[in-house]
Amino acid sequence: MSIEYKDYYALLGVKKDASADEIKQAYRRLAKQHHPDLHPVKDKPQAEAKFKSINEAYEALSDPQKKATYDQIGPGWEAGPRPGSPPSGGEPFAGFSDFFETMFRNEGGQSFGRGQAFQGASRKGQAVEAELPLSLEDSIQGGDKRISILAPVLCPVCGGSGRQGGRTCPACAGVGETRQERTITAHLPKHSRDGMRLRLRGQGGPGSRGAEAGDLFLRIRLLPHPSYRVSGDDLETTVTAMPWEASLGGELSVPSLEGPIRIRIPAGTHSGRRLRLSGKGLGKEDGSRGDLYAAVRIDIPDKSNGTTARLYQELREAIL
Ligand SMILES: [Zn+2]
Repeated sequence: MSIEYKDYYALLGVKKDASADEIKQAYRRLAKQHHPDLHPVKDKPQAEAKFKSINEAYEALSDPQKKATYDQIGPGWEAGPRPGSPPSGGEPFAGFSDFFETMFRNEGGQSFGRGQAFQGASRKGQAVEAELPLSLEDSIQGGDKRISILAPVLCPVCGGSGRQGGRTCPACAGVGETRQERTITAHLPKHSRDGMRLRLRGQGGPGSRGAEAGDLFLRIRLLPHPSYRVSGDDLETTVTAMPWEASLGGELSVPSLEGPIRIRIPAGTHSGRRLRLSGKGLGKEDGSRGDLYAAVRIDIPDKSNGTTARLYQELREAIL
């Protein structure tokens, strides 16, 4: 009886040097994709076969001992069965190929089946990444912010074992986790920056067999703002001045992230001049803040009458 070598790495679509995490991720993705329950009747047999081989590959590569054995033997297996390992006979392993059975007959004890692998060692929950969209105002103020994320939770049907009534759990495809919307409170520091990562301990994926939960990483993404143009750590906004304010000097109100600020504009201000409000911009890497620039735009009053027209004419004659 010849036993066909199975490339478990290729089955999971990972490289030979893939980390345990990468292997798990690939398995989870494929297990969901090929779960027989998700396919129409005519495609079920094919999906089932694929699902089985994915499970087998994961069983072999997720167990460090089995993985070591498998890596050691390699494709040279084609030359024939490993010495001392009978290709058949004895109690069969649940649903696995002859290749798997033969390879691991002497490794893992009497009876492990698909599914039990998920109940094995206790493992810390996986780290979860989520995006946290933030207004510019909130980024400056900091404080507690409540957000909803899709977080992994232990599968409510099988309780995380991946098995249900002696079969692969249909709710989670044997993975033991599902995603659920969860509201959490994140404590934001003052002056948060775009791209900053916040770590929330124990708010990530659930641990298996009583192990601690993984961490949640929130990546801050600053939202566009209707009143400001963002340039690095600096902000720019536009303020409108009347001709006499620009010419004689005056006071203007500038919208800042912390509310309006009154500034003086000097006499003889031209349209387009940028006035700097130091330290009123976005948070900088060193904890300080960038600047806010108020670009002055000169407008004329909407109201016009005989008096204003006469004054403009006087102005023209005085200057020409
Ligand atoms: Zn389940």
